[in-house]
Amino acid sequence: MIERIDIFMKRLNPLSLIVIFSIAVLFFVFIFFYMPLDVIAQNFYDKSFFSLSDPLFPSYFRILIFITTLLLILFLYRNRIILKKEINLRREIERESFEKGNRLEESLALSHATLEATADGILVVDRDRRIVGHNQKFSKMWKIPSKILRPGNDEKVAGSVMKQLKDPPKFIESLERLYNAAPGEEYKDEIEFKDGRIFERYTMPQIRDKEIIGRVFSFRDVTQQKTMEEQLLYQATHDSLTLLPNRVILQDRIQQELRYAKRTNKMATLLFFDLDGFKLINDSLGHNFGDILLQSVARRLERCVREQDTIARWGGDEFVILLTSLSHENDVIPIINKCLEAVGEPFVLDKHTVSITSSVGVSILPKDGITPSTLLKNADSAMYDAKSSGRNNYKFYSADMNKNIEKKLGLINDLHEAIEDQQLLLYYQPLVDLKNGAIVGAEALIRWYHPLRGLVFPQEFIPIAEETGLIIAIGEWVLRTACKQSIRWREENFSPLFMSINLSGQQFRQRDIAELVGNVLNETQMDPKYLSLELTESVIMENSEVYLNYMLELKKLGVSLVIDDFGTGYSSLSYLKRFPVDKIKIDQSFVSGLPKDSDDAAIVRAILAMADQLNLEVVAEGIETKEQLDFLCKYSCNIGQGYLFSKPIPSEDFVNLLKKNKFNGLMEKKDKSTQSTHELTMRP
Ligand code: C2E
Ligand code: MG
Ligand code: MG
Repeated sequence: MIERIDIFMKRLNPLSLIVIFSIAVLFFVFIFFYMPLDVIAQNFYDKSFFSLSDPLFPSYFRILIFITTLLLILFLYRNRIILKKEINLRREIERESFEKGNRLEESLALSHATLEATADGILVVDRDRRIVGHNQKFSKMWKIPSKILRPGNDEKVAGSVMKQLKDPPKFIESLERLYNAAPGEEYKDEIEFKDGRIFERYTMPQIRDKEIIGRVFSFRDVTQQKTMEEQLLYQATHDSLTLLPNRVILQDRIQQELRYAKRTNKMATLLFFDLDGFKLINDSLGHNFGDILLQSVARRLERCVREQDTIARWGGDEFVILLTSLSHENDVIPIINKCLEAVGEPFVLDKHTVSITSSVGVSILPKDGITPSTLLKNADSAMYDAKSSGRNNYKFYSADMNKNIEKKLGLINDLHEAIEDQQLLLYYQPLVDLKNGAIVGAEALIRWYHPLRGLVFPQEFIPIAEETGLIIAIGEWVLRTACKQSIRWREENFSPLFMSINLSGQQFRQRDIAELVGNVLNETQMDPKYLSLELTESVIMENSEVYLNYMLELKKLGVSLVIDDFGTGYSSLSYLKRFPVDKIKIDQSFVSGLPKDSDDAAIVRAILAMADQLNLEVVAEGIETKEQLDFLCKYSCNIGQGYLFSKPIPSEDFVNLLKKNKFNGLMEKKDKSTQSTHELTMRP
């Protein structure tokens, strides 16, 4: 209808309007020129104007037609204007929608190109979760051909997806979760594949008029990124040598256990392991060897605990084990013993057989601390206590342990100063020829004159010096000072004495020990034949093959080697034959029982007989009584040392002893007949 009017209006062009208007004007002229005004007025007044019977009707009719025509013209003109406007509007709309269509097409093409250009796989589903679109990347990533990824193939696609996933039920659950999320909420998670790939999934619902009409999923392959992240995390939380968790994980697990213990009233235990003498092995056999040893220890410890327990490398030769869910403190003891045994088994590494023990400190959680650091500190204190009381054992933490540790730490600090402030001094104890009572030598024994504590004895600080490595500096100082002292006595015209110096195991393990001794001998001009170096059995036996070479090097210098505290270590007699040893010192624990203790007497007699056979000189330590001396003389012990002659004394006092230089009085009652009997018995 509108179109028809439009067509009609289009025909009603300005020309036809002029024609209509002209006709209207003619009518107007006709009415006003052929019908006088007064007639019209009169008729109007008489109200007969519209009377059909009126002879003037034609005139009225004309007026009526005129007015109607005029109104019609006006109406048509008005309509034309309105229609024209409407047509213009429609044209405008048409043009606009055409342009919009173009733009939409362009934008669709652009969107398609964007979808295909993105590195992510995109999948679009409708409100009923049916596939409505995807990009090629999606098809590639999910290894699903595009021909399957068509609307209507949803079941096939789902089947293919499930087959690839590591945990399909988890995937389904996550789908439910994301569909149930609040509209408009973004959702991001990760999907793991059987073949190890990991996709990051990001999705957002498509919303129109506040209604969800579908959903767009975007998938990104983050496998490489995740692998790198995992590697970095692993490196940050694990020890690279033993591959055990490091402090970070350990502290976190202790924290978790503390929380768990609070909730459940259960207990857990921290075992602080420290290998005894590891530093020495590391120094003597090299760091590579030490590293392999640490790895082996880690593997052995792993075998001793359950999967839920944590073994961490705390640092150096320290390992910490967190044992969880224990009902009683004592439950831990069999586990500790198992670990001690496992570590104590000899290690055969690179042709070397090494045995190492460990000391263990135990702290119970939460009884011994409510923070990881306190628990670790307390287990560490207990470990120190275990170490000081004999090694290869364990100790449960008790409150007074920290005091001992503090004392020890104080001592370590002071010992550093002692070296710098020259608080160390040497005492000398005479070594007496038991045949004639003459002083033939001296053992240099270190003392520490502590400014507050007074005289400190070696047994208190030598182990600390060994632990901290300070023994190297101290040992060198002892060697140099004792050699200088020996020269001074020579210069004071005393007959030559041999000077016996104690070498600590750690000092001996230094590869350059022979070089050091050689240098000191050169420097002090001491005759090597008067220098004796004392080593304990246990040190020699630690690594007999390597140490044999060190001993041979020392022997080349011309010094003599002494086995100190003989009988307390391995007492393997075969090594006496193998090693270039000149003297043995019978430990004072055997001398103290003489002559009454039949076992001690038998041991001492056996040592003397054996030494005689091997042409070794024997020194008896710790002679305190005349009876002990008599027994030793009777069985031809060569040299004696002990409080009976003299305690260790400062060099000035030693000079006075040297001036007398005889303990004849003590030897007087030597029974010649017994001597000969002994000689007959021992030297058949
Ligand atoms: P050691 O080498 O076996 O020294 C003998 C120890 O026995 C000395 O103790 C000495 O004072 C003590 N002694 C000697 N005669 C008797 C006696 O008749 N009765 C008793 N009860 N004891 C006696 P000291 O001086 O306390 O030395 C203890 C240990 O410390 C030494 O045992 C040695 O292993 C070590 N030591 C001492 N000085 C040094 C040193 O300069 N370097 C190193 N590495 N160790 C040293
Ligand atoms: Mg000694
Ligand atoms: Mg000794």
